[in-house]
Amino acid sequence: MNDMRIGIAGAGLAGRLLAWRLLRTGYAVTLFDRDDGSGQESAAYAAAAMLAPYSETVGSGHALIEPGLRAIEIWRAWLAELEQDSGLSVPWQQRGSVVVAHPLDRGELTWFQQKLQTLTPESAADCQFLNAAALYEVEPELSAFSEALYLPREGCIDNRALFAALTRALTQRGADWHSGQTILEVSAGRILTTSGSHAFTLALDCRGTGAKAQMPGLRGVRGELLWLHAPEVKLNRPVRLMHPRYQLYIAPRPEQVYVIGATELESESMAPITVRSELELLSALYSVHEGFSEASVLEARSHCRPAFADNLPKISLSEGLMRVNGLYRHGYLLGPLLVESALAALHGQGPLPPIKCEGALFAREELH
Ligand SMILES: Cc1cc2nc3c(=O)[nH]c(=O)nc-3n(C[C@H](O)[C@H](O)[C@H](O)COP(=O)(O)OP(=O)(O)OC[C@H]3O[C@@H](n4cnc5c(N)ncnc54)[C@H](O)[C@@H]3O)c2cc1C
Repeated sequence: MNDMRIGIAGAGLAGRLLAWRLLRTGYAVTLFDRDDGSGQESAAYAAAAMLAPYSETVGSGHALIEPGLRAIEIWRAWLAELEQDSGLSVPWQQRGSVVVAHPLDRGELTWFQQKLQTLTPESAADCQFLNAAALYEVEPELSAFSEALYLPREGCIDNRALFAALTRALTQRGADWHSGQTILEVSAGRILTTSGSHAFTLALDCRGTGAKAQMPGLRGVRGELLWLHAPEVKLNRPVRLMHPRYQLYIAPRPEQVYVIGATELESESMAPITVRSELELLSALYSVHEGFSEASVLEARSHCRPAFADNLPKISLSEGLMRVNGLYRHGYLLGPLLVESALAALHGQGPLPPIKCEGALFAREELH
């Protein structure tokens, strides 16, 4: 057991993953979150959890393919370890994703392919054009479309199953978990909550948008999505509909549950989904597959993605304090790299691109 005591503020995606990896390497970990331990207050719980390095490179302009594929390999190893730790299997897949557009918008598919070719010519071969017959082989129910793009190395994770498995693994590995605690401030070696001040060797701030007051430049980017049960639809992999005004994606979960997303609004409102967003999402969805008309709406969610101005994640270090934030729409895509970078920083090593690391943990040598 390492005698360094680590306090983690925020048990969303970054906080949970860090806690689990730290516990596995022998650190004593205490977690704080305002929720009941389920993760329901986090952006990560709302998310579609797609692992889409190609689509996100096209969408963001950042070079996310190489780091995203590396992170997917880490997920592969971690999810096997998590099953050993928790006894729970987390459904996930890397069977590729399909990008479609209606005939009037077919220029969007050309644009997608050209942008990928321009940004990363070496990855363009991973983006395959499908005619109607080839599309039928990949996704037989997408008969509304006569052509598509296929990105064979993309995937998605069942985020709710991941949270359940992490909760159990953390408990079994002895995390000291303080749920129902509002965190007021995180500073060097200290986490201040409504129940008092808690001292640690290192305080790790993983509050996502909740850290805004203490992280200049951090903003929330609102996203809204719907969870549906659609017994009349059988899609095997994530599907993305390109559209001149908005994009729609459909991320499958087990038992014909689908996550439909997502709006992207420069707003920090946490209000429930608007009628306009719901109408846009559902009408676009119906145009992809008529079987969605009989689907049940299980939940509508809205949350804010934590982002800096460049929309890239960042680790800030100072004596006794590490702040890990800015995962934006890439928490699942880049989360494992962020966590590995944070652990590397803890051990005095450099970060993994595209994660930025600023500052230094003072007297780092003493912390080993
Ligand atoms: C609509 C939507 C769709 C998304 N889809 C994808 C996707 O398909 N693929 C992908 O890779 N990423 C996706 N993301 C992004 C991903 O969810 C985020 O990048 C990720 O959740 C950020 O992780 P985090 O741990 O920094 O923050 P969070 O997951 O938000 O966790 C922060 C935690 O801190 C706690 N907290 C904050 N403030 C306080 C406080 N004062 N007191 C106590 N507790 C506090 C919260 O309760 C929460 O549990 C999506 C996000 C949204 C909103």
